[in-house]
Amino acid sequence: PQHAGESTVDRALTAALRLIEANEDELGRLDAVAADGDHGLGMTRGMRAAVTAARRCTGPAEQLLAAGTAFADAAGGASGALYGVLLAETGAGLRGEITAETLADAVDNAAAAFTTLGKARPGDKTMLDAIEPFRTTLRAAVHGSAGRSDTGADIADAWRKAAQAATVAAQETADLVPGKGRAARLAERSKGHADPGATSFALLVTAVGDVLGG
Ligand code: ADP
Ligand code: MG
Ligand code: MG
Repeated sequence: PQHAGESTVDRALTAALRLIEANEDELGRLDAVAADGDHGLGMTRGMRAAVTAARRCTGPAEQLLAAGTAFADAAGGASGALYGVLLAETGAGLRGEITAETLADAVDNAAAAFTTLGKARPGDKTMLDAIEPFRTTLRAAVHGSAGRSDTGADIADAWRKAAQAATVAAQETADLVPGKGRAARLAERSKGHADPGATSFALLVTAVGDVLGG
C-alpha cells in the first residue's frame, strides 16, 4: 500500500509549503503596507503544521481535514481560520471517487463555506478576489472537457488554467480598495499593492498545479 507521505495531497501540500517559504518575506511586506505584516509568517507556520498533520492521515479527505484544522491552529489570524475552512471543506468534498467534476464541486463548497465565515464580497480586496476566478475557471474548464475521459491529465489541465486565472486576479487586486479585514482601516495605503491573502492563495494553487501536472 501507498504510504501517506507519498500521496498526491502530501506532495501538493509540501510543494505549496516550499513556494510559500520562498515568498514569506514578500507576503509579509504586502501585509505591512496597510496592516500588521504577519501574513508571511502565519502562512509558513500554518503550512508547516498542515504538512505534518496530513502525513499522519491516509486518504485525501482525511488528510485535507487534518491539514485544515492544523493550519487554523498554527497560523492564527483572520487568514488562519479562513484557509483552515478552505482546506477542510475541500477535503470534505473528496470523500468519494475523485473526478474533475467532484473536484470542482469540492472547491465550490469550500468557497461557499469560506464566504459564510469571512463575509467578504467580491471587490473587497481579499483572498476571495483570487478564489472566485479560480473557482469559476476550474468549473468552466471541467465543463469544457465534458464527454472526454476524466483522466488525471484533464484534472491537471483544468487546475492549471484556474491557477493562472487566480494569479492574474491576485495581481489585479492592486487596483482595489480593502473593504474587509485589518487593511480596511488604512485602506488608502494599500493602493497599488496586491492583497496579501489573494497573493498567497495564487501561490498555493500554482504549487498544487505543478504537482498535478508533473
Ligand atoms: P490578520 O489580518 O489577522 O493579521 P493575515 O495577515 O494572515 O491575518 O491575513 C490577511 C489576509 O486575510 C487579507 O489579505 C485578506 O486576503 C484575508 N482576509 C482578512 N479578512 C478577511 C475576510 N473577512 N474575508 C476574506 N478574507 C479576509
Ligand atoms: Mg496580518
Ligand atoms: Mg495578524
